[in-house]
Amino acid sequence: MLTALHKHRGLFIAGCIAVFIIILLSVKSFSTLVNAEERYTIQLVSEQPTGDLKRIEPEKYNGKIRKIAYLTFDDGPSLYQKSILDVLAQHDIKATFFLVGPNVANHKESMKRLVKEGHYPGLHSMTHNYKRLYQEGQIAVEMKQVQAIVQEVTGVKANLTRCPYGSMPGLTKPLRDQLVADGFKEWDWTIDSLDWKFPGNPNAVTHAVLSKVSKNVEVILLHEKEQSLQALPAIIEGLQNKGYDFEVYNENAHFSLNFWHDNRM
Ligand SMILES: [Zn+2]
Repeated sequence: MLTALHKHRGLFIAGCIAVFIIILLSVKSFSTLVNAEERYTIQLVSEQPTGDLKRIEPEKYNGKIRKIAYLTFDDGPSLYQKSILDVLAQHDIKATFFLVGPNVANHKESMKRLVKEGHYPGLHSMTHNYKRLYQEGQIAVEMKQVQAIVQEVTGVKANLTRCPYGSMPGLTKPLRDQLVADGFKEWDWTIDSLDWKFPGNPNAVTHAVLSKVSKNVEVILLHEKEQSLQALPAIIEGLQNKGYDFEVYNENAHFSLNFWHDNRM
């Protein structure tokens, strides 16, 4: 009798544990699904500090040196992309986007519009995962994958990449050799807005950008985030007041802009 009771109690506890594990597993897989997009947009560490990019030559226009700003938006497409395109259209400005492959499927219409309106669909990997891209050396593989996805949706085969977290220190010589062999270029930036640090504070994003502007050519790192969208009109107007024109990345007029000063890319 006593043995039978013990046996049943054991079965009951085992059953409870099994049910608990099943519930745990299903909750986890559901949240994985829900967060699939968010996962790709998380910034794990500060993207790199800015480098001094000596390779950029000033351009002259009507005898005066033209000051040019490139606005770049990383980690999209996101739910803010459509509104970012609206602001850019209102100001008649073209920008450069660096896209994460798995996000593209969720924003196909916006991606088609992005290209149709003259913006550049640059490449920003599939996983945005430092270990996978740099330590496991998957960066060229992932850039080819996102290139194919962007081409399928927009018809544009883009060759300009931006390395997640910047090319320094992750993109070592062997990895740069692979990107070069596959025909890719790589752009870092001259101004980091640090926008991801300032949720709910677009003024801080605007200040972070405008306070750092000094060179004749500035490439400004932003992300497809709410505070960056909200700061965008003030950033554009601030740069215009400082005498800057805006340009979009042009593969036919490529200039080298990476922290390694590797002029092959
Ligand atoms: Zn990124």
